[in-house]
Amino acid sequence: MRVCIHRGSRQIGGSCVEVEHEGRRLLLDLGLPLDAPDNTPALLPAGLALADDPALLGILISHPHLDHYGLLAHVPPTLPVGMGAAARRILRAAAPFLPGEPPLPAPGWDYESGRAFQIGPFTVTPYLVDHSAYDAYALLIEAGGERLFYSGDFRAHGRKAKLFERMVAHPPKGIDALLLEGSSLGRLADDARFPSEEDIEQALVKELRATPGLALVHTSAQNLDRVVTIFRASRRTGRRLVIDLYAAAILQATGNPNLPQSHWSDVALYVPHWQRVKIKNEGWFEQLAAHASHRIYPEDLAQQAGRTTLLFRPLHQGDLDRAQCLTGARYVYSQWEGYWEGGSYDGVREWLARHGIPRVALHTSGHASPVDLRRFVQALAPGKVVPIHSFQPERYPQLFPRVEPHADGQWWPVKGPA
Ligand SMILES: [Zn+2]
Repeated sequence: MRVCIHRGSRQIGGSCVEVEHEGRRLLLDLGLPLDAPDNTPALLPAGLALADDPALLGILISHPHLDHYGLLAHVPPTLPVGMGAAARRILRAAAPFLPGEPPLPAPGWDYESGRAFQIGPFTVTPYLVDHSAYDAYALLIEAGGERLFYSGDFRAHGRKAKLFERMVAHPPKGIDALLLEGSSLGRLADDARFPSEEDIEQALVKELRATPGLALVHTSAQNLDRVVTIFRASRRTGRRLVIDLYAAAILQATGNPNLPQSHWSDVALYVPHWQRVKIKNEGWFEQLAAHASHRIYPEDLAQQAGRTTLLFRPLHQGDLDRAQCLTGARYVYSQWEGYWEGGSYDGVREWLARHGIPRVALHTSGHASPVDLRRFVQALAPGKVVPIHSFQPERYPQLFPRVEPHADGQWWPVKGPA
């Protein structure tokens, strides 16, 4: 079996790996580069042959983050796509709410953690991992008696940290090559740790207690670990979590009855103007009805501001202005600081200034710290460690044994010297 990183050997985002055995091929991820100005076929990695070719058996997506699946829009719709069943439902539920035409995965394989399946000469075993995307997997690919382990994106400090501990306690054996993500390298000192989701919950409880009015917590509704954190902190401080129809649809799509849902007693639905227009124009009345058991209205927001946490998105701004519910409000930014610094939310920044709403930032990474990466490598004890999904592949040899870096576009054998 041989491998080529088409994109990702020295960058975060746009990951795409090809594996080949006896002339048959599989792709692992087909991500949109993070710095892509738009999503066009020109972004497909050079050297990647996607045209109708029976040797290409399918694409296995590790998790539903755009930098891992975003270029699916440009592959033949007949090409089967593997991913988690819940991840597939989430993408389908989210698509109507998002601008443009977000790519939807073609039918293929639905992962079950630990359950191997066969694709031509390849045996694939997905392993559910702890990550900021829901239903994220690492993938073990076996062919010809050789074993490649693709870490995908993962961490050890989220709400599913047990999965990491289980993996290092009972690692898959005899791994010849480990494709290891290294997002945290260069972003966190070698011996430092990221805060856990529990830490974030604790800090958020403090912020909510210090907020006399409405708490606006800005995160991605698809970061379900964080949504749970926000829900728990709100419940602990006597606040109801108010979500919009998009978040309600995502939570339902998980199919997980342990995650907050629109019908829970501590949850309410608020439908901003933009979504009301969508409901009317697209006839989403059934979907609205399915989530409307605890629907609230602008006047409720104003009346119950001090007992409410709103899962905030920028499209709520106009609605909140009209609801006149912002006295004593506080804004908690709960995603990657790079988006804020890069100007993605300059509109929010101005809006906050206009209303005199204070901003605090509470976030933790979706990626493992260098300490946890080392524990992972030690446990798997692979024949070689190949850097991927990192801006600092040159740091790998300082942290891990048997590192074998490979440039984008280079083919290398899973087993033995390159
Ligand atoms: Zn990710």
